[in-house]
Amino acid sequence: MALREIPREKIPWYPTVDADVCIGDRQCVEFCKNGVFEWDEDRNRPVVMNPFNCVVGCSACANICPVDAIRFPSLQEIRDVIRRLREEVTAK
Ligand code: SF4
Repeated sequence: MALREIPREKIPWYPTVDADVCIGDRQCVEFCKNGVFEWDEDRNRPVVMNPFNCVVGCSACANICPVDAIRFPSLQEIRDVIRRLREEVTAK
């Protein structure tokens, strides 16, 4: 079964931002072309507004963040989730 056959919302892969570490340079918002982030003008921080627009396995925004404020789950964790979801579908 291909990954696309699993509803995206069932796969918890998306960034989280540590607002205390973030320096508000907007690089992640400008970098991500999938609209995962929006900018909170009041807080001067990014908001993960559309988490499931994030491409499963992509963590490029974390790599460009100069202060390492963006986190993702571990790839192993996501592999385990996908394996379990595939087993559930196969068992039906
Ligand atoms: S790239 Fe990092 S420091 Fe810049 S706004 Fe995004 S989370 Fe904050």
